[in-house]
Amino acid sequence: MFSFAGRASTASSIVASLATPAPPSKPSSPAASARRPRLIMSAPVFAAPSAVAERSQVGLPWCPCTRSMDAVERLKSGFEQFKTQVYDKKPELFEPLKAGQCPRYMVFACADSRCCPSVTLGLQPGEAFTIRNIAAMVPPYDKNKYAGIGAAIEYAVCALKVEVLTVIGHSRCGGIRALLSLQDGAADTFHFVEDWVRIGYQAKKKVQKEHPTVPFDDQCSILEKEAVNVSLYNLLTYPWVKEGVANGTLKLVGARYDFVNGVFDTWEK
Ligand SMILES: [Zn+2]
Repeated sequence: MFSFAGRASTASSIVASLATPAPPSKPSSPAASARRPRLIMSAPVFAAPSAVAERSQVGLPWCPCTRSMDAVERLKSGFEQFKTQVYDKKPELFEPLKAGQCPRYMVFACADSRCCPSVTLGLQPGEAFTIRNIAAMVPPYDKNKYAGIGAAIEYAVCALKVEVLTVIGHSRCGGIRALLSLQDGAADTFHFVEDWVRIGYQAKKKVQKEHPTVPFDDQCSILEKEAVNVSLYNLLTYPWVKEGVANGTLKLVGARYDFVNGVFDTWEK
């Protein structure tokens, strides 16, 4: 067993790890200022409609924080925009979905609020059966643990007959930083977090062994990919996945979304 050294001090350090740092706050270059708003504003379905409108009307730059709005009203206004701008305008998309779903993909992505795969990959409703959790990890087959993940994989593969299982890591992942921050032999601070990210323990050890002199942040970047590889390997411990890959009906794809540089890498296993 291994965990955090020093309960009090590591509590704050692991919280700091999970609260991933914001991108550098240097003065907005044309490219940077264009990149931030466009990520969401070009996809009005996902924008915060009232906040965007209010700020732009008074000449303020776009800001992702909608905490000044009533929380429930924010949800309602978001849905209203989706309803009028997407749902009502695309019956060819939504009518067939009333009868059922046949997604091509099963996607594992991080719960990080900056990494919604529907937004970043343009996945439409009905296209991707999606699991999001801390660090986009897939645990190995275990009927006594992680049953929620096992049930989702079983349903996606055996009932929905998805064709592609993809695991998507991302830049500045707080879960990956937490994994790399774990100290062997120390007590856990959280009830669940450390135990969950330990799914990627082998990836952490591999990175530390192969890149011992690399700065912590760069080790994190490498680990963001290696943890995906562990998850892809773990997917093969589910019998229907192993069988599907063996007979060619299933494909496993690793990916990493780098939202700092606007890059999306993929690789097949
Ligand atoms: Zn993450």
